[in-house]
Amino acid sequence: MDISLQQVGYLYGKDTPFEKRALQGVDATIRSGSYSAIIGHTGSGKSTLLMHLNGLLKPSEGVVQIGKTTISAGTKAKGLKDVRRHVGIVFQFPEHQLFEETVEKDIMFGPMNFGVPEEEARKRAHELIALLGLPPEVAQKSPFDLSGGQMRRVAIAGVLAFRPSILVLDEPTAGLDPRGRQEIMELFHRLHVEEQLTMILVTHSMEDASRYADNIIVMHDGRSVLSGTPQEVFGDEEKLKSFRLGLPRSVKFQRDIEKMIGRPLQTLALTEEQLAEAIVQATKEEGDREC
Ligand code: ADP
Repeated sequence: MDISLQQVGYLYGKDTPFEKRALQGVDATIRSGSYSAIIGHTGSGKSTLLMHLNGLLKPSEGVVQIGKTTISAGTKAKGLKDVRRHVGIVFQFPEHQLFEETVEKDIMFGPMNFGVPEEEARKRAHELIALLGLPPEVAQKSPFDLSGGQMRRVAIAGVLAFRPSILVLDEPTAGLDPRGRQEIMELFHRLHVEEQLTMILVTHSMEDASRYADNIIVMHDGRSVLSGTPQEVFGDEEKLKSFRLGLPRSVKFQRDIEKMIGRPLQTLALTEEQLAEAIVQATKEEGDREC
């Protein structure tokens, strides 16, 4: 299922004295099966854009197309139930929404609300507990007795229980320690590869955007100002600076090394591993020159 936005604008408190424009003329395309990252400074419109991706907000102007569903200002809420099932959103700190007595019941709650029979919902909950790398015994535990990272996994399982084909992640690693962060990001990568989930990641981390995404959308002042592959977006430092965004660490290091050796490396290193490879390659080339 592809998502496309055409000239989308959004005003909070429209036609009131508190009217505030959050989006203006946003064009974007998110292809089925892709991993997109939405990056931008605080207040650039990322969260507002995210809520348009499953019909939680309807555009004040323009059109959002989600698969076969077209959403514009006049679309009735009734037509959006199906879209919400196909596009799951993992909000920031999703564990704050856990509420049931046991992990199993919490994961079963959403599907049962959508009419899935109890046994089917239970089976799905147990499959998800395994898929998310949680030990089977957590099923009967209270979600509130788990560690922070485990609680987050349970909350993510609750979203996956709807069997969405698109997963939207709003700063999904906020508040986790570096190890927890890496584990969650690797988990999403695995879901993308093994379950063919289309991923849309809203993030402040240039490292996560460059490591995991194949498509980057840059937001600035409510507009989508730049999009492309990580190579294209992170290759243009000046443009990123003008949107008050920096480079991933590996690219920063690459620029320092290029200054030191007085020439550019062959490819843009989007991860530490790619940078290490590029350095090995450059060292070999230096050796060949000296011979
Ligand atoms: P980001 O997620 O990039 O930080 P947001 O989408 O939250 O950006 O905000 C975009 C703009 O809309 C900001 O100027 C923000 O102050 C404003 N805004 C966000 N939510 C509301 C709201 N509920 N009411 C009024 N203005 C809002």
